[in-house]
Amino acid sequence: MTDKKLKIATVSLAGCFGCHMSFLDIDERIMELAEVAEFDRSPLTDIEHCGDCDIGLIEGGVCNSENVHTLREFRRHCKILVAVGACAINGGLPAYRNYIPLEECLGESYLDGIGVENPQIPSDPELPLLLNKVRPIHEIVKIDYSLPGCPPSADVFWKFLTDLLAGREPVLPYELIHYD
Ligand code: SF4
Repeated sequence: MTDKKLKIATVSLAGCFGCHMSFLDIDERIMELAEVAEFDRSPLTDIEHCGDCDIGLIEGGVCNSENVHTLREFRRHCKILVAVGACAINGGLPAYRNYIPLEECLGESYLDGIGVENPQIPSDPELPLLLNKVRPIHEIVKIDYSLPGCPPSADVFWKFLTDLLAGREPVLPYELIHYD
């Protein structure tokens, strides 16, 4: 690994934080990582906007206007942008709503679904606008690498990051790659 501390930022867009949890499964290896890298925006810090970073890890696809803004901000500030997990790579589970008109989804969730009380569709102007479809992140910005899996295993994160931090082109062994 190099002497220089690299900056890593992470964010969850339309995801479940499962990829972040899997990242944390590197367990005590995070101490080794902290010796060579520091975190900018991530659930581990209280940083609201991504600063200039070496590596940006994106979990989740793009389902609303705020996701688009955040993703573009990461692309502007991160030298290397990584699509982490099925949701970021192809939309994943949230993209199942793409088969149903948005009005029907909103109606089921807020108007006439089971257990709905005080039916009304939220319309606060501060809420981000929903996109008609959930999009994989490569449809919005250029992506440099993808880590497949739902979620990728901790060993995938570790192998990928230690390769990058050592200045090597990341190579994931076949046995680490899975798509479920
Ligand atoms: Fe969650 Fe799987 Fe999507 Fe990761 S890929 S955010 S674990 S649903």
